[in-house]
Amino acid sequence: MRPHFWNGKRVPYVTAWTIEACPQPKIIRRVGWAGEGIGYEDEEPVIDRRHEALWVRSGIAPGRGKPDFRRMNTHRQKRAVRYSLCQVCGESVIGAEAGERTLHLLGAAVPIAEGEPTAAPPVHPLCAVEAIENCPALGHGWAAALVQFSPLWGVAGVMHDPMTLEPLPHPGRRPGELQHVHVADKEIRWTLASFTVMSLQGVTAVSHDQLHEMAQHAEYARRLRADVLSPDVTSPPS
Ligand SMILES: [Zn+2]
Repeated sequence: MRPHFWNGKRVPYVTAWTIEACPQPKIIRRVGWAGEGIGYEDEEPVIDRRHEALWVRSGIAPGRGKPDFRRMNTHRQKRAVRYSLCQVCGESVIGAEAGERTLHLLGAAVPIAEGEPTAAPPVHPLCAVEAIENCPALGHGWAAALVQFSPLWGVAGVMHDPMTLEPLPHPGRRPGELQHVHVADKEIRWTLASFTVMSLQGVTAVSHDQLHEMAQHAEYARRLRADVLSPDVTSPPS
């Protein structure tokens, strides 16, 4: 996967680019097979609906416009969660340095809890160290953990008022912060979803030192692979 750079730094795979923003259709009331909820007039079920929720529309054009480091692209986030792709480089984390488990990194002041719901896709150890160095949000504090499995939990989005169809305020959250809505919650039909949320299960906390140790091992393994794969130009032709 071709990385994109901005001011000399790699732009994470899941980061949204300004040109990907597109006009959002008007929200209408709609009766689906599971009941009443919000929808679009020109709704395309395959694209616009998943887990019973209505989804925001977005383009896919990484590398065009400017990166918006505060936001993730909905398509790449969904893809990263579904296929266990690293949120920084976009490559698979399965069978990587963490073995059977996947590494997760969250901007948080407290350790990752068992069952914690999150929209942040997994990450490689080396990519995690890079993200901590480059991402201002992680500079305020982060928590890392190895996770045994991460089943679907719900969506992150904005709930809408069933009467007015206007976005509902959610007290206690920062402006723009999305609400997590469980897949079994009937409110999901009134939610305009942006991201898939998974539940982190079988959590083992990873300290600062352990993360850097994992990154060193990964770097060593990467160099070994590079040495093995590089052609030996000094060997005589057979
Ligand atoms: Zn990576």
